[in-house]
Amino acid sequence: MTQEKFAYLFVPGRVDGDASMRNQLGGKGALLAELARIGCPVPAGFTLTTAACLRYLKEGEAFLQSLRPEVEAALAQVEQATGMQFGGADNPLLLSCRSGARRSMPGMMESVLDLGACPRTIEGMLNKTRNKRFVYDAYRRLIMMYADVVLEKAAGLDPPEGQAIRAQLERIMTGLKMFRMCETDVELIGDDLEQLCHVFLKTVHKVLGQPIPSDPHEQLWNAIVAVFKSWNGKRARAFRRMEGIPDHWGTACTVQQMVFGNMDDNSATGVAFTRNPATGENIFYGEWLPNGQGEDVVSGSRTPWPLNTETLQKGDYTENGHELTTLETAHPEPFQELLSIRSKLEHHFQDMQDIEFTIQQGKLYMLQCRTGKRTTTAAVNMAMDMQAEELVDEETAVSRVPCEHLDELLHPMVDPAVKDQIEPLGEGLPAGPGAATGQIVFSSEEAVRRVAENKHRENEKGVPVILVREETSPEDIEGMQAAAGILTTRGGMVCHAALVARGWGKCCIVGAGKLQVDTGNKRFYAGNQCFAEGDVLTLDGTAGLIYPGSVPLKDGTGHPRFQQFMHMADRHRKLGIRANAETPKDVQEAIDLGAEGVGLFRVEHMFYGRGSEGPLLVLRKVVLSVTEDEREDALRDLFPYFKQSVKATLAITARLPVTIRLFDPPLHEFVPRKDAECEKLARSMNLEIDDVRQRASALHETNPMMGHRGVRLGITFPRIVEVQLRAILEAAAELDADGVSAKPEIMVPFANDPAELLSVKKVLDEIASDTRRRVGQVDYTFGTMIETPRACFVADQLAEIAEFFSFGTNDLTQMTFAFSRDDVDRFMGDYLSQRILHADPFQTIDQLAVGELMRIAVQKGRARRPGLKIGLCGEHGGDPASVKYCTTLGLDYVSCSTPRLPIARLAAAQSAVHDR
Ligand code: PEP
Ligand code: MG
Repeated sequence: MTQEKFAYLFVPGRVDGDASMRNQLGGKGALLAELARIGCPVPAGFTLTTAACLRYLKEGEAFLQSLRPEVEAALAQVEQATGMQFGGADNPLLLSCRSGARRSMPGMMESVLDLGACPRTIEGMLNKTRNKRFVYDAYRRLIMMYADVVLEKAAGLDPPEGQAIRAQLERIMTGLKMFRMCETDVELIGDDLEQLCHVFLKTVHKVLGQPIPSDPHEQLWNAIVAVFKSWNGKRARAFRRMEGIPDHWGTACTVQQMVFGNMDDNSATGVAFTRNPATGENIFYGEWLPNGQGEDVVSGSRTPWPLNTETLQKGDYTENGHELTTLETAHPEPFQELLSIRSKLEHHFQDMQDIEFTIQQGKLYMLQCRTGKRTTTAAVNMAMDMQAEELVDEETAVSRVPCEHLDELLHPMVDPAVKDQIEPLGEGLPAGPGAATGQIVFSSEEAVRRVAENKHRENEKGVPVILVREETSPEDIEGMQAAAGILTTRGGMVCHAALVARGWGKCCIVGAGKLQVDTGNKRFYAGNQCFAEGDVLTLDGTAGLIYPGSVPLKDGTGHPRFQQFMHMADRHRKLGIRANAETPKDVQEAIDLGAEGVGLFRVEHMFYGRGSEGPLLVLRKVVLSVTEDEREDALRDLFPYFKQSVKATLAITARLPVTIRLFDPPLHEFVPRKDAECEKLARSMNLEIDDVRQRASALHETNPMMGHRGVRLGITFPRIVEVQLRAILEAAAELDADGVSAKPEIMVPFANDPAELLSVKKVLDEIASDTRRRVGQVDYTFGTMIETPRACFVADQLAEIAEFFSFGTNDLTQMTFAFSRDDVDRFMGDYLSQRILHADPFQTIDQLAVGELMRIAVQKGRARRPGLKIGLCGEHGGDPASVKYCTTLGLDYVSCSTPRLPIARLAAAQSAVHDR
């Protein structure tokens, strides 16, 4: 039996690992091996595998004994490669010992640097560098880290706040700085640091009862053990729980030669990106510090200098009026080497890299390299550039832009440059994308009034307002439309406000439960802060954050290559993408954003918003009718509204498919609530106002979402369905006669049983015959929404009648979880924070149950009717993970609100690329 290998070397001439070994060597170890493998100057070292960590945690000391010879052999190779000796007096080698799991767990585990510094090696280092400050600074860092990581944390000690050894040593150092009247560590001279090291050594021994070992091998060995143990440290365990990282992964431990950017003036350190991470521009971009350590660059303790001329031109790199020197100028040789490494890395990894480097006495070393984070603008630009440079193929380029972040390009956003500097006053659910600033108003009327009052010219937008409500209802629609942003304290991701806002691409935050709205007094409270009407508020609807006052916004829409990128993505997509839209204007906008049809035309849209007074009044008459005659009169008046609305949209969609869904909401949603509205209705129906109220209250339902809605309405009131069907078919026939091809897909909402579909289909066929006779040719298909678990289980029977299915996953989720979509905000936050659920099922399809029901429906439906067209039109149609799931299920299309179309298109393309 071959013995398991635990130590993987990376020294010039021998590299055992590579980038594919992340699971064994951790992310850091695998990438260092890869860098060394492709010939980059990496300080020599070796990585102990995650398996070694797990074996140690299980078997303890016994395992360490068996590991020892392998570690010693690896160390000997490092010594040979560097020509230095660990613990040697003449040319002492110092080592770092770092943790690294297969997935990044930033700062959650431990590392110890400068191992090997001890009285014997200090002499050698002093002789070699003639830099006392540098040598004792390294030693004091070792003492601090070793005491903290090995003697305290790994020993399981948990001192009270402020009593930890690191805090105690830091206090001593601060005291010394005060005594020396220094502001920064750098001002302490070699003698100060030598003295500090003596005090540190004594303090550690006194506080922890153990000395810092003066045997470098003992230091190293204990540091390795401490790194292994840090896998089970408090922070690491908590982080793993939060991130869902399994306990059985373990951490690797990389032991590597220390190199120093702070050894002398011929030394430096820096970080760089192989392309500009903010814009994507193909320029080498980075910062450096002469005579410094990596952490000085990233911590911001010193102002970094520009890497090269290109970086210099991007920012303000001056100190006391003088331009800071570039690395290109100060260290031309290592810079040239870095430049060729930049190109090597991009060709090797085929992506933008984020690198860390150190120059020690004129020699360049690469310390780290990983895929660089970038803004979405940069991601799009880089993907297009790299594809044009033939660095990557189209499929890869398409996969390079995270679709969740496309929103950034399509809406104004809070300027990322200031985001971290301002404190939000509260948060809610990110219901509608982008950001908005405006004056607070508490009613729809006031929103409309203020915007109009401040609008001096046609086409001017007026002063923006933020509509703040406990929740919104259809009656608020005009105010919602007028407002730049909407904020509610109640509601979940598919409540009224959220649906409407997202449909318009309007900035909206819902369910901000910690705010208290006092509409009567026109105030709202966030903790002890009070905001009144007219005060200014900024909403970040993408993040769900609420800021007081005006916050600088950035226009994210001007992205010249966005269209190009989307067309490239479309070439790889198989899933169709449609929009949920109704009016010709909205539908045109959707087509412009790439919609290939309308997946959900909700006929009831005409009863909401501007211009809805006429049809709404008539609908209210229908709803409150008690006699057949009354209802018949009202329905006659309603017909032209239906027909006009359908015809206008069918006229502009021409050959594109349009799914028109019959009336769905419970009738009570349309009864008037305000006195003035009740009076108006009473007058037009020749009734007393009390009669109106009485009839309205008779429509009250205890559980309207599970009540008299959808196809059920037509079972009780078939004439309501007939009027709609006639309007749709007449509109289509008239267009056809005019040479405009219109083939509506007529869809029944909320069906549970084939008998329900049959009852509608029968009427539909009759009306179609009549229309053909009276008007002319008409073509249509008939289908159903799948919105209840029962519908999924009887999908085969439904498919006997329905020619297409469309999943209404908003209702299907509501009905599967028994979570009310309008009230779910009350507990969803807790479910998510306690990780009872990992994602809001109203945003991302719950694959376990809702997704499984969909799978059953697809399978049964297509078994009965091969090739059955199946789409999805719930809010999930704009959610990347859900779109990907729909591809897996073999759906034909998803339909989403217009602003989410690019996200859906890209998600579908990526999922096709991934499957290939
Ligand atoms: C659904 O339930 O997913 C759906 C699209 O219908 P609505 O949101 O109109 O109920
Ligand atoms: Mg529905």
